Amino acid sequence: MDSSEQIKRVLIVGGGTAGWLSACHLAKKLASSSPAGVQVTLVESENIPTIGVGEGTVPAIRDSLRYLGISETEFIRECDATFKQGIKFANWVRPPGTSGADYYHHIFDYPDNQFGDLTPYWLQGAADGSYVDTVAVQGAVCDSGLGPKDMTVPEYEGHTSYAYHLDAAKFARLLTRHGVKKLGVKHLLADVQSVLRDESGDITAVKTVAGEQLEADLFVDCTGFASLLLGQSLGVKFVDKRDVLFADYALAAQIPNQSKDAPIPSFTISTAQESGWIWDIGLSERRGTGYVYSSDHTSHDRAESVFRDYLDDKTGDLSIRRIPMRVGYRETFWQNNCVAIGLSQGFVEPLEATGILVYDAAARMLADIFPANKSAMPIVAKQFNQAVQYSWDCVIDFIKLHYCISGRRDHAFWVDNCDTRSIPDSLQEKLALWKFQPPSAYDFPSKFGIFNLANYQYVLYGMEFETTLSAGSSGWYTRMSEAVSRIQEISMFSKQLLGALPEHRVLIERIKKYG
Ligand code: FAD
Repeated sequence: MDSSEQIKRVLIVGGGTAGWLSACHLAKKLASSSPAGVQVTLVESENIPTIGVGEGTVPAIRDSLRYLGISETEFIRECDATFKQGIKFANWVRPPGTSGADYYHHIFDYPDNQFGDLTPYWLQGAADGSYVDTVAVQGAVCDSGLGPKDMTVPEYEGHTSYAYHLDAAKFARLLTRHGVKKLGVKHLLADVQSVLRDESGDITAVKTVAGEQLEADLFVDCTGFASLLLGQSLGVKFVDKRDVLFADYALAAQIPNQSKDAPIPSFTISTAQESGWIWDIGLSERRGTGYVYSSDHTSHDRAESVFRDYLDDKTGDLSIRRIPMRVGYRETFWQNNCVAIGLSQGFVEPLEATGILVYDAAARMLADIFPANKSAMPIVAKQFNQAVQYSWDCVIDFIKLHYCISGRRDHAFWVDNCDTRSIPDSLQEKLALWKFQPPSAYDFPSKFGIFNLANYQYVLYGMEFETTLSAGSSGWYTRMSEAVSRIQEISMFSKQLLGALPEHRVLIERIKKYG
């Protein structure tokens, strides 16, 4: 093979969470010390801030941190991280003040499957409790304010599954140190001003404000919503998805913890509002909160007033930042020799913390299928584009699910969300099927779908979606007494766990002190 064809230099532009995750994944797999011998360089601006939000994750982050060689204790210490065992959705099923307006999804433990799928039995009244409390123990663990493990369990493992809440700025700093010191990433500080391309359209270099040209064989655009390389320079169009997901702004605020020993919820709280929803995330040193809303359905002033009411900010002194959000994704994510990862690639509202999840998966995929030479690049790019687009479409369906099966009709935002014209056909088709049979693994054939059977089960039945088992199909589910016994066993296990697990804040403090 002609060695000039090999891809030896990768330049990542942008040093937010996406940039540093990409740098770490690429360097871990391909760095100059490995046989692939690729030099990974990251350039970021000191003058253009990172987005500074993105504090909720999903369990896949554990695999990545472990794979990258980051100690969990160090991560918890340095990023003010706490455990996240799921999301509590308040006022999503019905408007506030009505009973049963809250539910848990998605707790991160899979529904118990020792018996098989308990869902049809729950639908037929095998238990009185909520879906989540019937099929899993973790809702009770969350309600009791407990952590997912104790100090006897090794790093990255738990008695129940978990992800983290983290301080985004501190996380980027940890990844920076790790990438540079442990994985050999070259780190540059400069403002990129322009992008230089050859006659084929490939990028040859980026030029900094200081006039320096930074050359590479492959460029990774991690410049956030600006999408400086893929969007602005290569002109790849943005596919707007606001016709499906209406929220286009967020107000964000950081709130001090009430006291040093106040309990910290081990789940994200998502509270539905008249024109969107508010996230509330407990870190060890503060809370991170934000109101995600649709500017077609409310004014910025009204949104701020709703948010301040939630925060109980009577004096109006709290500093609140308004962030415009571009909802959708690029037509392609890898064009010529440029790959976009992060907000430059696509974004949907953070209801299920999908940002870091998708970007981390895309970064890992890029490292895993890294083209051996330039002629392989278009084939690899095609695979990457297909997989990432599929992931985004699945994420959009899943987020839309939360809105379109809600019983809320109290504001135009909720009414419009249930208008079938705003629901993708792919989702409508599945919902039509699930009216008569519970979802099954066959509905989720691809691993690039991001959200799977368990995620859908928790949302559907947490939100009281009606699956009416027809007389014929309920005849398939003939193990009712066994199902009832299994549900009782789960309930007993839940009680044991509640007696054994430490309080969440206590666990975090122990890990920070002794971990
Ligand atoms: P940014 O953080 O914006 O970083 C861009 C980088 O590019 C910066 O380093 C900047 O300096 C650099 N840059 C830009 N232009 C130039 C230039 N010309 N020259 C040099 N450098 C340049 N995700 C989750 O997973 N969970 C969540 O709970 C979550 N909540 C969110 C809430 C909101 C309101 C929003 C908007 C997003 C949320 N996200 C969440 C997504 C999350 O913010 C992103 O996953 C994450 O921060 C990645 O951002 P980024 O690195 O792509 O971009």
